[in-house]
Amino acid sequence: MRRPVIAGNWKMNKMSRESVDTATDLLPLVASVQGVDVVVAPVFTALAPVAKALEGSTIQLAAQDCFWEDAGAFTGEVSPAMLADIGCSHVIIGHSERRQYFGETDETVNRKVRAALQSGLIVIVCIGETLDERESGTTFAVLERQATEGLAGLRAGDMNRVIIAYEPVWAIGTGKTASDSQAQEAHAFIRSTVASCIDQTTADAVRILYGGSVKPDNISGLMGQPDIDGALVGGASLDADSFARIVRYAL
Ligand code: PEP
Repeated sequence: MRRPVIAGNWKMNKMSRESVDTATDLLPLVASVQGVDVVVAPVFTALAPVAKALEGSTIQLAAQDCFWEDAGAFTGEVSPAMLADIGCSHVIIGHSERRQYFGETDETVNRKVRAALQSGLIVIVCIGETLDERESGTTFAVLERQATEGLAGLRAGDMNRVIIAYEPVWAIGTGKTASDSQAQEAHAFIRSTVASCIDQTTADAVRILYGGSVKPDNISGLMGQPDIDGALVGGASLDADSFARIVRYAL
């Protein structure tokens, strides 16, 4: 049985105070929820204050990116060890916005994944096809390449700290969710790719989240699919109430 995960990606939104307020509002709303891992990912500048606000709770903290070196002359970067040091348990890697605007490649994703695991973090690795790729019939080839190259060099023992997020780029922030069956088909394919590049037991255990315009009113259908283990939520995670409803409906 795979434990569901609902992760909120706040992207580049909210000042530090607002992030703390949202986290504080979320606490009582999900306090009684058991059986789901709840994760929030504020901007870098809000991580430390949000970590403090979440102290003693079960809500876990993620960064939205990291670099692959521990320390050194890499102006503007933040290392996985630094994230762990201020209380992050998770880090999102390879989000499509990073691939699209900041030149992230499967190779840099892989370097970051390996470094983050080395520092003890749980990684949420994002993969997903663009609209052009879907329309030209290359969805599975893209997912296979991103999963295989993004997870290259990992062993079965690493994979209990890897969560994969399938996020079709055409569904992110567009209000256009993949249908339950489109998402299930992609998740099943990703699971079979993990079985080929690692092994079947690992593939059966790895958690695969769906991301792309998830809302309180579409989470139940998605969660009803056998290979969907949770969601990476952007817009609808910015409001504590709607995010908490997604967490509750995920059950
Ligand atoms: C995301 O940013 O990962 C995402 C899925 O965004 P949204 O829910 O707004 O589509």
